[in-house]
Amino acid sequence: MSVLSLNNVKKSYKLGDGSEFPVLKGINVSFDKGELVSIIGESGSGKSTLMNIIGGLDSKFEGEVLVDGKNIGAFTEKELDIYRKNKIGFIFQSFNLVPHLTILDNVALALTLSNVKRSEQVERAKEMLEKVGLKDHIHKKPNQLSGGQMQRVAIARALINDPEMIVADEPTGSLDSQTTQQILDIITQIAQEGKLVLLVTHSEHVAECSSRVIRIADGQIVEDRQGITLTPKETAETAKTKEISKNLNFAGAIKLAFKNMKEKKMRNILVAVGASIGIMSIMLMLSIGNGIKTYIRDTMESLANPLAVEVTMPEEEDTSAMGPEAFLSNTYFTQEDIDKLNTVEHVSAAEEHFSAFAMGTATASIDGKQAPLMMVSTLSQYNEYDLSEGTMANKNEIIINEAVKEELGIDDIVGKTITVSVQVDNRQIIIDTVVSGVLSGETSSMSGGMSQVYLYYDDLKQACAEQDYDLMPTSMMLIADAEENVDSIKSTVTDMGYGSSMQETMVETFTTMLDLFTGVLAGIAGISLLVSAIMILVVLYISVVERTREIGVMKAIGARRKDIRRIFISESFILGLAGGIIATVITFIIMFIGNAVIQSHFGVNMILISPYYVLFGIGISILISVLSGTLPAAKAAKLDPVESLRRD
Ligand code: ADP
Ligand code: MG
Repeated sequence: MSVLSLNNVKKSYKLGDGSEFPVLKGINVSFDKGELVSIIGESGSGKSTLMNIIGGLDSKFEGEVLVDGKNIGAFTEKELDIYRKNKIGFIFQSFNLVPHLTILDNVALALTLSNVKRSEQVERAKEMLEKVGLKDHIHKKPNQLSGGQMQRVAIARALINDPEMIVADEPTGSLDSQTTQQILDIITQIAQEGKLVLLVTHSEHVAECSSRVIRIADGQIVEDRQGITLTPKETAETAKTKEISKNLNFAGAIKLAFKNMKEKKMRNILVAVGASIGIMSIMLMLSIGNGIKTYIRDTMESLANPLAVEVTMPEEEDTSAMGPEAFLSNTYFTQEDIDKLNTVEHVSAAEEHFSAFAMGTATASIDGKQAPLMMVSTLSQYNEYDLSEGTMANKNEIIINEAVKEELGIDDIVGKTITVSVQVDNRQIIIDTVVSGVLSGETSSMSGGMSQVYLYYDDLKQACAEQDYDLMPTSMMLIADAEENVDSIKSTVTDMGYGSSMQETMVETFTTMLDLFTGVLAGIAGISLLVSAIMILVVLYISVVERTREIGVMKAIGARRKDIRRIFISESFILGLAGGIIATVITFIIMFIGNAVIQSHFGVNMILISPYYVLFGIGISILISVLSGTLPAAKAAKLDPVESLRRD
């Protein structure tokens, strides 16, 4: 039985005006193994059309093309892919090597598509390259070879899967006569080793060296004659004929994608950098949110006495949305307020307090050294203070926290007199006071990060009086007679129209700040994610257009649509991953610089990144890239191999 037989094969192209243009008008012919068939005919007579049909690149024809008794015209797409991969080796006039892959990788490409182990790929590709006499050039790129050498690479590539048939469309068309002879010798040897070789040629000399010559004219075979007799040869090496059934897996696609992307390194790096901006905004947004939340939590934790209920003056309507200014301009209690609070049921004591969220308007200084203070508060006789050194303050004494001590840089600070300058109702009040103790790290806010001092309300009131100012409390601490009455006191106070504790007000203000920050960053993130999605889309589209030929070649050597899609999706995956990693690096840099700056001004770390944010950011980055990559990848997968190979 013949390896290949064609029964009444017809093919016509639909033209733009709807008319049909017949190219093949009923081809009937059979071929056997070991034949070297030259196909000759005028240009435009339909030789390439016929080769594309036989090669499984074009299945839109009438009639039958029987390979081992099966009609490839009735094959499913999957069967056709397998047919191209295992039964056919294609050789083109313009070589069609993939320019950015090495000679070795070009030859091994078909094996990569079959998920063959890398070591085996290399071994077999080397074997094929040795056969065509290119053993010494395996690491070169195609543009470093001569035309004849490139065609020999293409032959090695066609042979790698040990196909039954070689289809060569004018393989010597762009070669000089000497290299033509070399190629012809190799092709003759292939036929002698038992394969069917179909060779389209214009060269009289080539035709004369083949075992059979078929002339096509006007869409029909007009001549079919015997040529020289080829003596069969034993195959030098028993080529592995095991059926290649596996397909390109994801790891293989990623590796191939990497090789492809190296070619346009700069472009891909720039795209990844562009894509990283949106991701970075997201990570930064989350980290700032986290920093502020941690700050609030730490501040809240400094609440000590469970019997204490802190009361503030009601906030004026319009200050709530203004952020930190609300703290800087305190509202003060009047004597009337104080009297009213003293009469609340279950209140055993009412203590006056002052607390200023200073944000740098307060300082502590000694011997010319100065520490900015984040907060100045008053001490309560109802709270316990955990001191790391010194003793609890008496009158005219002050407690500082570790952060202040560190800022001032004096080790034996206890017992020394420091000067505290704090803004009270737009006046700068100066107090000289003795440090009696240092608050231990754990109990101070932000684990000692936020600089704070604590002094007695009476001392502060005294200092104000000396500067002709009558200090009134900014908050009151009501002490309940029993713990179960705390809630009732809280609700009574709220009903009276007073505000909740300083801490709770702070939480509200910080939440407002947080919303502002996150709103701005989310906007940036949203827009830049959209931009990067479009950017990746465009770059991959360009890449598909640039690589149309390469895609055609891959299809000719058996790549499935799925494989092509996978390779492009892998490229977008790599872009997304790179973008995510770049974003992580930039976020960390911003975090270190940003925290250093904020720390020096306010004594807190505002940006706290977590590994989850990094994973989340990288995940989003990959997701967006892959999603934007799907369209171009689908376009690439859909390309018609005949169309894409025709382009020159
Ligand atoms: P050959 O390889 O023998 O030079 P081809 O097989 O490439 O010839 O082309 C045969 C004929 O079919 C030519 O006249 C060509 O113009 C026509 N043809 C090829 N492809 C198309 C197409 N996609 N649409 C319309 N006509 C086509
Ligand atoms: Mg042609």
